[in-house]
Amino acid sequence: MSHLILKDVNKVYPNGFHAVHDFNLEINDGEFICLVGSSGCGKSTTLRMIAGLEEISSGEFYIDGKLANQMSSKERGIAMVFQSYALYPHLTVYENLAFGLMLEGIDADIIEEKVQATAKILGLTDYLERFPRQLSGGQQQRVAVGRALIRKVNIFLMDEPLSNLDAKQRVTMRSEIKQIHRGIGATTIYVTHDQTEAMTMSDRIVVMKLGVIQQVGTPFELYFYPRNLFVAGFIGEPPMNFLDGVVKEGKLILEGDEENPLDIAPIVKDVASLEGKEVVFAFRPEGIVLSKEGEKDPEGYKFTSTVELTELLGDVTNVYATIDGKNTILKVNPHDTPARGSECDFVVPFKAAYLYDKETELAIENDVVRH
Ligand code: ADP
Repeated sequence: MSHLILKDVNKVYPNGFHAVHDFNLEINDGEFICLVGSSGCGKSTTLRMIAGLEEISSGEFYIDGKLANQMSSKERGIAMVFQSYALYPHLTVYENLAFGLMLEGIDADIIEEKVQATAKILGLTDYLERFPRQLSGGQQQRVAVGRALIRKVNIFLMDEPLSNLDAKQRVTMRSEIKQIHRGIGATTIYVTHDQTEAMTMSDRIVVMKLGVIQQVGTPFELYFYPRNLFVAGFIGEPPMNFLDGVVKEGKLILEGDEENPLDIAPIVKDVASLEGKEVVFAFRPEGIVLSKEGEKDPEGYKFTSTVELTELLGDVTNVYATIDGKNTILKVNPHDTPARGSECDFVVPFKAAYLYDKETELAIENDVVRH
C-alpha cells in the first residue's frame, strides 16, 4: 500500500496544450479513487503522470513521502491495466500471467505458485491452458487484471478497464474488481467516464472538466452535495433538472413563470445577497414527490408539468415532462405513471431543491440537510 500526494501538478504537452491544471490530491493508503469526467478532460494524462509514462510538467508527486517525479515506473511500484487487454495472442492464459515474472528471472516453481494463486482469485483456474481467443471479453479482462495483480505492487492503476465489455459483464467485473481491491488492499486509481462505475466502486471520486478538478468527495458527498453545476449534472442518471431564474425582491422568479415567485428562504443562507442575481434552480428526477389526491404534500416547491412521454424501466418510470415549456425528467413509481398529455403535479421538497449561481456555477450557500 502507498500514500500518494499530488501537489500543483500540471501537464503541458509539447505542442503547448495544457491538459491538466494545478491538480491537488492526497490519496490514502489502500484507498480506491476514481477519476471521472467526459472524454478529453485529462483523466488518462493524470493517470499516466502517476504511472511515470508521462512527464510531470510542473508540480510535485510524492509516494510515501518521497518525491517521485523522476522515478521510473518500476521504482514507483505500480501495475497498470489498460482499456485494451493487450494480451499476447500466441501465449496461453498461464503464459500470459507468467510472462512478466519470467522476464524478471523468477524461479519456475515460484512462478507456478503465483500463477495458481492469481488464477484462483480471478476464477481463471480452469482456463489456464486456453488462448485469449478462446475466452470471453470478461475472461480476457480478468487475465489482464491478473497480469497486473501477479506482480506484488503497492499502486494499482486502471484506465477504463471495462469499456470493451458488454453491460452485463461490466456489472459483474465492477464487483469483482472491488472484491480484489478489498483482498489485496493496494492503493487504486481508476479512470472512467462512467459515473455509475465511479459511484459504485470508489472510496472517493475526483470529477474533472477541461483538466481542472471540479470536486473531490465520497459518492455520497458528490450525489447529495454537488458543489457546482457541472458535478450536479454529471453525477446521477437521468441527470439533474435545471430551471433558470432570477432573484427579485427576495423571491425566485423562474423563466416563463413570472406569476409564481418561489420563496427561497428555506434553501438559502442569505437571501438578500442574491438580489438581482441569475440563478439555476435544480432538482433530481428522483427527488420529487407526486401530489396525490387526498394526500398532504410535503413542504417544498409545487410544480405543474405536462407529460410528454413516459418510459417504464421496471423498477421505475421516467417521465419526460415540461414545466412552462422547459424539459424536465421525473422518476416515479411505475404504479403512479401519469398518462401522456396529462398534467402532473409534483413537489420538490426543500431538502431536494438546489440553487446555483448562474455566473460562477457554484452552489449557493445553504444549511440544507439533504439525507
Ligand atoms: P481523458 O483521459 O479524460 O479522455 P486525456 O488525458 O487522454 O483525456 O487527454 C486530455 C487532453 O489532452 C485532450 O484534449 C487530448 O486531446 C490532449 N492530449 C492527450 N495526449 C496528448 C499529446 N500527446 N499531445 C497533445 N495533446 C494531448
